[in-house]
Parts: sequence; structure tokens; C-alpha cells
Amino acid sequence: MRQGRPTRPGDAEALPADEFETFSGHRGLQHEEPLIFEQDAAGRSGVDLPEPRTDLPDRLGTLKRRGAVGLPGLSEPQVMRHFVRLSQMNYAIDAGLYPLGSCTMKHNPRLNEKMARLPGFADIHPLQPQASVQGALELMAEVGRWLCALTGMPAVALSPKAGAHGELCGLMAIRAALDARGETRNRVLAPESAHGTNPATAAMCGYTVDPIPADARGRVDMAGLREKLGPDVAAIMVTNPNTCGLFETDILEMADAIHAAGGYFYCDGANFNALVGRVRPGDLGIDAMHINLHKTFSTPHGGGGPGAGPVVFSDALAAYAPLPLVQKSQSGEFSLVEQLDDTNADTAFGRMTAFHGQMGMFVRAYAYMLSHGADGLRQVAEDAVLSANYIQASLEADMSASYPGPCMHECLFDDRFLKDTGVSTLDFAKAMIDEGYHPMTMYFPLVVHGALLIEPTETESRDALDQFIAVLQSLARDAKAGNSARFTGAPYLTPRGRLDETKAARKPVLRWQPPAPAEAAE
Ligand SMILES: *Cc1c(COP(=O)(O)O)cnc(C)c1O
Repeated sequence: MRQGRPTRPGDAEALPADEFETFSGHRGLQHEEPLIFEQDAAGRSGVDLPEPRTDLPDRLGTLKRRGAVGLPGLSEPQVMRHFVRLSQMNYAIDAGLYPLGSCTMKHNPRLNEKMARLPGFADIHPLQPQASVQGALELMAEVGRWLCALTGMPAVALSPKAGAHGELCGLMAIRAALDARGETRNRVLAPESAHGTNPATAAMCGYTVDPIPADARGRVDMAGLREKLGPDVAAIMVTNPNTCGLFETDILEMADAIHAAGGYFYCDGANFNALVGRVRPGDLGIDAMHINLHKTFSTPHGGGGPGAGPVVFSDALAAYAPLPLVQKSQSGEFSLVEQLDDTNADTAFGRMTAFHGQMGMFVRAYAYMLSHGADGLRQVAEDAVLSANYIQASLEADMSASYPGPCMHECLFDDRFLKDTGVSTLDFAKAMIDEGYHPMTMYFPLVVHGALLIEPTETESRDALDQFIAVLQSLARDAKAGNSARFTGAPYLTPRGRLDETKAARKPVLRWQPPAPAEAAE
């Protein structure tokens, strides 16, 4: 199992790591960390609390707590170590390459973090007088201006708080536009190669979702699309590049077809990192598109922070964008239009969120835009696509790429290369964990069998890509050589082995039960 592992000076010769038991249960720096409730000691506290007052008036008596709160008693260092140890069992983009296809886990430059922490951005309140937050409003206006310029679209709504929220915003604007035309259309077309949030959003908006099949090239089947068009179709939602990592080459025909049928063209632009600086979606006939700032413009996500999903609109939909809007007066003052008035009362559908969106994400994205500049952003797309193609080409001989020819920002493999090996996509992905990698996206998209979707992003070096490729090659070759031990129980080297994922999802244990006294005494 451990062949190929380089020996380092100081490596123990005698015992293989998996036979080495420690007294503490810890394994080197990896601690066997009990639940925080199991570390409870009655009366222990991290803070020095004053004695409770005994002289409260009777009328406050009903507010008095009647029993213990049930929080564990720990000292401050214990709490600190508990969470640091848990975090060390986790995987993060700051720890290594994170090839999760469709998620764009790229490095988040620390400059962005520094800017977002400036008190003028971090410590302001959304209800502060607008005159006192002119810089923040100007930054929002600038982010919006860049997004419009990069997409070739005239209007933007900044407030949606994630990609899926942006989709909702786009469909609500489309419905507002149809309402204004006095039309009720209740069907939304979503190709099979679309991201799962597309049909989910359409359903949530009350539309009937009608799937369009993918063709043999992994793209929208144009004949299938034309067949589904009709006077009841409100919109088509197309992910481009799609979730097979492919550019929808018929996108101009799609735009013409949906417009001729009186519907709107929604584009899922979460993967704009593959196009930025190279293609302007506005030139493709798109009416609304969300952009995930947390993907293209590198802000932390996936457990690392909130997202932001601004939506750009074409002329046809600009009037239906939600509030608030950032405006600049002739005298150079910035303001947020927060209310419906005579100019927008008949059109806008209201707001998407209580306030203005994710200010901290706007700052990070703007820092990324300014530090890259127009040429740098173009290079983002070029390098993201180059990295994915480098991986696809390097693994061609060992794994089965699903579609021939170059890909965009991510490359898709299916499980044909594992046929008759007894190793599944899941086993293969779990074995990657033992090698120190977060697995790629598995079993998605659904258009191929046993999918393995890899997105390296532009922020990995050639060395990092080579190492990753070598690991996948070694796994694929072992699987084919019948060395199934490396896979069947993987991961072997993590604090916990292979879990029953169905049971964990269906019957999660969310409440800690103290052991019964008899058991505890044993
Ligand atoms: C990530 C992604 C989404 C969803 O974005 P969230 O911010 O997670 O809601 C939608 N579509 C595509 C193509 C994506 O890659």
C-alpha cells in the first residue's frame, strides 16, 4: 500500500504507520479530539463572571433562569485548542489544491482580506447616513461599473447574496418584465448540462421546469431545444461554460431562438472565470446573468465565508432590476435608491435582501479587479482554461475523458477507465484523501456515468498541477493493476475512516446525549 512513498531522513524504518498505536490515541500532530460536551467540567469557565445579584425586584423573578443552561464548562485555552484542532482535521484552499469542479476553489489573495478589514468598509452600518459612507457607495458603484464593462451589459443588481440567489433575482426580473407585457408564461427550459441550481430556482419561482437533452458533444441539443419552445416559455436557463466544462458553441442560435419565441435568455455565469476578459455575455444575446464574485473574483467560500451573486441585465430587463440601486448625482454624490417612486414603481419587483448585499465581498472583488487590471483578468481566464486542459491532456492515457477536444475551466472524466477494476468513482475519490487531496466533484454532472469533474483554477502552479496529475496517474494505474486494497476502505489515514454517508445524511446525530450513569461508571 505504501510503495512509492519516498523515505525521508528520520523516517522510522521499523513500524508502518498503520500498525503504530499511540498511548494517547493522537497521531503526531493530529489529535483525537473529544466533543466539546465531553470536556465539560461543572463550574469551569473562560471568563470571570460576577456573582448573580440577589436583590432583583420580585417582578423580574419570572425572568430568572430555573436550571442550568446546558453549556459545557471549559477554560479559554481549552476552547481555543478544541476549535483549532478541529480546523486541523479539515481541508481548505489554504492547505492545498482543491479541485472541486464547478466550485472554483481558488486562492484568495491576502491583499483582498486586508482591504476588506479597513475600518471604513468593515465597521460601517447599513443604516448610517449616506453622506458618511460615500467611499463605500463609490466602491459599490465601481464594482458594478466593472461588472457591466466585463459583461457588456448596461445594468447590474449587486444585492443577491450567492449564485443561486442571483438566479432567483434574474427569474424574478424576467417575470416582472412578462407581467409588464401582460403575459403569463409558466415554463422554463433548463438543459441537462445546466447546474442543478437552475431547475431548482425555476421551480422555486413557480415555473414548470422542462429539461433539454444534451447531445453527444455534451452541449445543448439544438433540435431538442427548438422542439420545446412555445408561447408559454418564459425563459431558458443555460450554464455557459456548462457543467461538462464545455463552451456552448450554439449560444448565438439559442439566443435567437428564445427571443423569436418571446422568451428571455438567462445565463448562469457562475463560471465567468473561464470567459472574463475574452467574451462579453452581452454580445451573445443574454438578458440576465449572475456572476459569483466568490468564484471569478476570488472571495472566500465553501465554509470560508459568504458569497455574492450580482446579476447583470440587458436593455430588455434593466428597468426590472431590484432595489437598491447605486446612483451618482451630477455633483458627484453617491446615493442608494431604496424606495419605489414614480420612476420605478411599475417595473421593479422590490428587493432581494434587507440591505445592499455583501459589502465585504464587494471590497475583496474590487481589490482583485484592481490588482489584476484588464490584462490580468483576461489572463485569469486564459490560465484557468490552460490549467484544466493541461490536466485533461496529461491524464488522457490513464483516465477516460468524457468528451474529445479541449475543455474550458474544468475537465470531465467518467468511470469507463475503472470498468472491471472493482473500484468505483467513490473509492477512487476517497483514495485521493489518503494522498492529501480534496477529491474532485463526483457523480456530477449526471450526463455521464460516474463523473469526476476537476477544476484546478488559475492559481495553481505548474509544479502543483504536476504533482496532482502524478497522484491521479498512480491511482488509476493501481486500480487497473488490481491493487484494490488502496481503494476499498479508503481513506485509511484520516482521523475517521470511510463513513456510512447515507446514514449520516438520513439519521444525523445532532444532539449530544450524556452517557447513562451506569455506562459512565463502567
Ligand atoms: C457555484 C455555481 C452555482 C451556485 O452558486 P452559489 O453561490 O453556491 O449559490 C450556480 N451555477 C453554477 C454553474 C455554479 O458553478
